[in-house]
Amino acid sequence: CGVFGVTGVTDAANFVALGLHALQHRGQEAGGIVSYHPDHDFNSVRRFGYVRDNFTKQSLMETLPGSLSIGHVRYSTAGSKAAAIRDVQPFFGEFSMGGAAIAHNGNITNADALRRELIERGSIFQSSSDSECIIHLMARSLQRNIPERMEDALRRVEGAFSIVAMTRTKLIGVRDPLGVRPLVLGQIGEGWVLSSETCALDIIGATYVREIEPGEMVVITGEKVESSFPFRRQKPRFCIFEHVYFSRPDSIIGGRSVYETRRQIGVELAREAPVEADLVCPVPDSGTPAAIGFSQESGIPYAMGIIRNQYMGRTFIEPTESIRNMGVRLKLNVNRALIQGKRVILVDDSVVRGTTSRKIKEMILDAGAAEVHFRIASPPTAWPCFYGVDTPQREKLLAATMSEEEMREHLAVDSLKFISLDGLYRAVGEAEGRNKSCPQYCDACFSGEYPVVPADMVSKGFEM
Ligand code: SF4
Ligand code: MG
Repeated sequence: CGVFGVTGVTDAANFVALGLHALQHRGQEAGGIVSYHPDHDFNSVRRFGYVRDNFTKQSLMETLPGSLSIGHVRYSTAGSKAAAIRDVQPFFGEFSMGGAAIAHNGNITNADALRRELIERGSIFQSSSDSECIIHLMARSLQRNIPERMEDALRRVEGAFSIVAMTRTKLIGVRDPLGVRPLVLGQIGEGWVLSSETCALDIIGATYVREIEPGEMVVITGEKVESSFPFRRQKPRFCIFEHVYFSRPDSIIGGRSVYETRRQIGVELAREAPVEADLVCPVPDSGTPAAIGFSQESGIPYAMGIIRNQYMGRTFIEPTESIRNMGVRLKLNVNRALIQGKRVILVDDSVVRGTTSRKIKEMILDAGAAEVHFRIASPPTAWPCFYGVDTPQREKLLAATMSEEEMREHLAVDSLKFISLDGLYRAVGEAEGRNKSCPQYCDACFSGEYPVVPADMVSKGFEM
């Protein structure tokens, strides 16, 4: 998901709509915006579909007045997959000291247990979302102020959260102690911005100030930004997959350009798994920067062997299998004239179920390619993510049941190589590679080493 908030500008909701549009890659199912105006109270609009189809109509934006506003774009990872508007964020709660709205990116790993406990004690849940627990925990806190109630609530929550919240007067940002999901602070005029990624600061002309640190809470009141660290300090474990796929290449994470990291992954891949061929082609768009790096390092020409229909979104993020299956052909087509008779290296960011790679291989052989070599810009995805990326159950992951050679046979390609975990760490700037005793990132979907025990899943029988 993507979260965004602005304070201190006129008609803040318009800025939020623009910010969410720039974060659309983080969630395409639905979006919501809440704003506050002293004369009009809180207002909220939550809709299915793209930001540009909902939050561009003037008549609708006029219902969201005020200089303080937050928003969310949704990609369902927890709760029901069935589309339900009640699961669309931001969520809202009324407390004795006033209302508050929250937008959450990540996944709460003990949400089932919390929900059970809260329901037993009288909470009435409105949605199937894990994020709603936070509102109910806040309602039960005895603290006098909303930020302190939020601290109380979040101390009981396990897993990943980057949160943007608001009260009548405050914009609040929080990151979980491991800092699994991103969150940055920006400035616009006298006002402040919180955003999942820096690319959404650019779109509104805000300047990047800094990242919210893992475990940090910022409370912004007017022009004042107060920072605190309400949780027990831990060594950060940012999601390495944000660098590989999830974030936009024009964002800056941890002082590093995501594009440059991905290009560097391609360079590492070309060193680790060279192969003779005529062309290096990306599987667009997610494989593009790595393919550029692979071509630069290997000296094999880069070419657009697969053309992407710009009117399709991210296939993976379509929540049902049947749509995803259709998706590949709707989205990608082979550039026949270029491919014919050529030995082609295809670079993609990841293999999850193998749907994309299998279809692409068929398409490219149909088009008359002489050889097909896959190079993948991440290690084999053998474990599900429980922290906010919707990888399927373990059984559906190709790499969970097959070795690299079995996957190559299954995909029926001439060769298939994944970057090593150390190679990936080098590409994100860790010259010594992965620190095995204390990894610098979360890489559980590749290593199976989960930095937070996924309690709900373990009690459902998941074996780590
Ligand atoms: Fe990111 Fe993978 Fe960790 Fe999930 S399991 S947070 S996708 S690195
Ligand atoms: Mg892709």
